Amino acid sequence: MSANNHYDVIIIGTGAGGGTLAHSLAPSGKKILLLERGDYVPREKDNWDTRAVNVEGKYQTKEVWRDKDGKPLHPHTNYYVGGNTKFYGAALFRLRKEDFGELRHKDGISPSWPLSYDDLEPYYTRAEHLYHVHGQRGEDPTEPYAGVPYPYPAVSHEPRIQKLHDDLEKCGLKPFHVPIGVMLDEQNRHKSPCIRCSTCDGHPCLMYAKSDAQVLCVDPALERDNVTLLTNARVTRLETSPSGREVAKIMVDRNGAVEEYSANFVVVSCGAINSAALLLRSANEHHPSGLANSSGVVGRHYMGHVNSILMAISKEPNPTVFQKTLGLNDYYFGSEEYEYPMGHISFVGKLDAATLSAGAPAIVPGMTLDIMAKHSLDFWLTSEDLPHPDNRITLDSDGNIVLSYKPNNQESHKRLISKLKGLMNSIGCH
Ligand SMILES: Cc1cc2nc3c(=O)[nH]c(=O)nc-3n(C[C@H](O)[C@H](O)[C@H](O)COP(=O)(O)OP(=O)(O)OC[C@H]3O[C@@H](n4cnc5c(N)ncnc54)[C@H](O)[C@@H]3O)c2cc1C
Ligand code: SF4
Repeated sequence: MSANNHYDVIIIGTGAGGGTLAHSLAPSGKKILLLERGDYVPREKDNWDTRAVNVEGKYQTKEVWRDKDGKPLHPHTNYYVGGNTKFYGAALFRLRKEDFGELRHKDGISPSWPLSYDDLEPYYTRAEHLYHVHGQRGEDPTEPYAGVPYPYPAVSHEPRIQKLHDDLEKCGLKPFHVPIGVMLDEQNRHKSPCIRCSTCDGHPCLMYAKSDAQVLCVDPALERDNVTLLTNARVTRLETSPSGREVAKIMVDRNGAVEEYSANFVVVSCGAINSAALLLRSANEHHPSGLANSSGVVGRHYMGHVNSILMAISKEPNPTVFQKTLGLNDYYFGSEEYEYPMGHISFVGKLDAATLSAGAPAIVPGMTLDIMAKHSLDFWLTSEDLPHPDNRITLDSDGNIVLSYKPNNQESHKRLISKLKGLMNSIGCH
């Protein structure tokens, strides 16, 4: 292999993990190569078109995975420079201090991490600065301590969400401003890169004002001569040295041609599923179950959360543009009548009729989808699932991804839904 193809560090994948790492390592002057299977998201009007994005899935991979019964799965994942952060909702929470310890859930134990919150606190602070996080400490009853305030003020609630906030407070709850990574300057709207639009969650940002890994990490890292990015470069396999102890070659399919690279350090950061798949796909005589997998744990214990979108419809219209400003964690660790963690409540981006036509919710009598969307508060509810060993990524005989996943811990999620329904009924939304 030519010396030109050898690097100090090769980072596979440019999403939240790989992109952020590239940004941190770039000032070291080390020779760094980023290998990214996707290209830049094309900047075009469809970026902000809910039909193109939510109904047609224009930017999602067309790759087909299989479930454990061999049925096709169409993953809602995106292969681009910046990875899924190009499309994420940019709600940038710290995990709770308790999340790092052992937590008892209805369906079993969520084991403790080998790291504590204290170990990571300084890195959360750095990440919040890098990702321009807006927020207000002291509002969220579950938030862990932080060394410094959020670097930017909380994103304000629009009037309908402020009213909901006030109604929830009257019920004795502690709604809070969701920490959000956007480059928004509410005091100087004419100069603000973010225009506070309705197509943020799930969409790429046409203004490059969302705090994503391409805009804030990869692009600035590439301004340095020591950092190189190859797009459309899918890593197909990691080959080890004859001893089996080092990664000797990184095999890449770049626009249909096979290329080889090597590095002193290789970072696999292609997302939870593709990272496991790459290690499994790299099995050889020294590592018959895949790389780093003598334990058999690679690909196992896959967690996806238990999630729901709940629309609460009231007579009062909801003209909110940017809806994801309010969160509720009062039931995160349980409630007086239920001792197990239930989860978190916040919002998705404002739903419209086009998006609803894809999700087909139960129609409210006398309302069209359009009227429903104009009157709904569109909640996002998320609860923990447990890391079951049979929820796992494997490969089929052609090396394609098989995702076996059976949801668990659903009782707690049902309780969370029921709590929110009760609250909405009490304040006149159904
Ligand atoms: C619609 C949506 C909304 C979300 N909202 C939020 C939110 O509000 N808050 C939050 O915290 N999280 C959110 N998330 C989740 C968040 O985006 C992910 O947790 C995060 O991006 C994961 O980072 P990652 O680096 O592990 O993977 P990714 O960001 O997925 O990056 C992996 C990269 O690896 C590349 N890759 C994969 N395989 C290969 C290969 N073989 N060779 C080369 N490159 C490869 C991919 O193309 C991709 O660029 C959301 C996700 C989605 C899809
Ligand atoms: S302009 Fe602001 S609200 Fe709209 S997509 Fe960009 S970051 Fe999100």
